[in-house]
Amino acid sequence: MSIAFPVPDPEILARRDAILAGLRPLVAAEALVTTEDERRAFETDGLTAYRQMPLAVVLPSTTAEVSAVMAYCHANGVRVVPRGAGTSLAGGAIAQGDAIILGVAKMARVLDIDFANRTARVEAGITNLAISGAVSHEGFFYAPDPSSQLACTIAGNIAMNSGGAHCLKYGVTTNNLLGVTLVMNDGTVVEIGGDHLDSPGYDLLGLVCGSEGQLGIVTEATVRILRAAEGARPALFGFSSVEDAGACTAAIIAAGIIPVAMEYMDREAILITEDFAQAGYPRDAEAMLIIEVEGSDQECEDMLARIVDIAKAFNPTSLKVSQSETESAAIWKGRKSAFGATGRISDYICMDGTIPTGQLPLVLERIGAICDGHGLRVANVFHAGDGNLHPLILFDINKPGELQKAEAAGDAILKLCVEVGGCLTGEHGVGIEKRELMRFQYEQVDLEQQMRVKNVFDPLWLMNPAKVFPLEGRVAA
Ligand SMILES: Cc1cc2nc3c(=O)[nH]c(=O)nc-3n(C[C@H](O)[C@H](O)[C@H](O)COP(=O)(O)OP(=O)(O)OC[C@H]3O[C@@H](n4cnc5c(N)ncnc54)[C@H](O)[C@@H]3O)c2cc1C
Repeated sequence: MSIAFPVPDPEILARRDAILAGLRPLVAAEALVTTEDERRAFETDGLTAYRQMPLAVVLPSTTAEVSAVMAYCHANGVRVVPRGAGTSLAGGAIAQGDAIILGVAKMARVLDIDFANRTARVEAGITNLAISGAVSHEGFFYAPDPSSQLACTIAGNIAMNSGGAHCLKYGVTTNNLLGVTLVMNDGTVVEIGGDHLDSPGYDLLGLVCGSEGQLGIVTEATVRILRAAEGARPALFGFSSVEDAGACTAAIIAAGIIPVAMEYMDREAILITEDFAQAGYPRDAEAMLIIEVEGSDQECEDMLARIVDIAKAFNPTSLKVSQSETESAAIWKGRKSAFGATGRISDYICMDGTIPTGQLPLVLERIGAICDGHGLRVANVFHAGDGNLHPLILFDINKPGELQKAEAAGDAILKLCVEVGGCLTGEHGVGIEKRELMRFQYEQVDLEQQMRVKNVFDPLWLMNPAKVFPLEGRVAA
């Protein structure tokens, strides 16, 4: 991984005062952030090893304000990096030094809830969890559940096509999104998709979802809301080897069982998390699975019985089926705080790749060998059911060369994912982190076809330009 930001354009830097003067009348006074101290809060995102001071930060309150800012930036050649809550683990929300950040966090209202048709219309800066919070009184919820759901916005979820533990059953953002209001790079406001499952014409919504803030600014979204299941029960399985846990996962999927979630943690992750969350995880296990099923009491009972039967063939060292809401909450508290618990004890980079589930045992073994070879600890926490790996590579940023070693190990892991028939991302996107590795996944001709799509939406490459595509070999409009 070689992460470089383009050198800020001196011509833009020289015009900074004039640009700020042009932006000032377009938003409320407090919505234009210009001082160095205040801008520092926006210099990084979840990829905290990298920092860049943005030219300015603009925090509009309406679609009309977003449109005015975008029109100004387009007319004046100013680059724009959209931002939600800044939790991207791929560096997607870090601005290069000559770009403004346009944050939508102030636009966080619920605009409409239609329980009969199971949709909610929200502003883009609303947090993921707040959507479920707004509909839970009627027994509904919004399904995709990134572990960052308390903080991350639906805008960021749409841009990264985010997933979460329960996406094994419910799909990721693209499967739960019906429409968006998109402000184009020149300020034009367009509606994409609608209130229905499918819309006539090209699937532009599918294009916008996962486009990492490169095609326009999402200011509103219509999402599906689902009726919550009658009940849910997680179970914890401890294993004496990584291979057994991986093979058990593959066997459950191969048996055609779709639990609502199937999460994996290895020994390092179990210990780090248990020290923080005291979730009752098996400290003596080499690996652990959280498997959750949902439905009526009987349905949960039946499905868990089948899962336990399969798991027994892989010699589980412990087995605990949740017997209460409190136990279920503790099990999930551990998993959802695993990244935070890791951050408490070490710097880390979180990799995000996807592999065919049948390759789990082999890939887990090789991840261990790769990190050993670099003299680094690795804690594996991931969505095992859909093969979405999150090795957390621990390093010390204050030790010269450690970040580079961690990055080299990360590169090797992501290349391994591609080699075994998987891909570079699962749910965190490409951002700056995997931009150069895209060459490993795609031929230049494939990359160029994707870039031509960007050219249609943003021919001047003003929108989040230093992300997703390798810096060399870009295709001009
Ligand atoms: C502790 C932790 C746990 C996490 N767990 C998960 C997980 O389980 N699953 C998962 O998928 N991700 C996870 N993430 C990653 C991250 O939370 C997601 O990528 C999330 O969707 C980012 O949302 P955000 O609001 O923070 O967006 P930001 O980080 O602000 O931005 C992310 C991307 O979206 C673009 N963007 C933001 N707003 C807009 C807009 N209005 N219009 C167009 N583009 C926009 C940005 O330019 C950027 O490219 C985790 C992160 C952390 C720190």
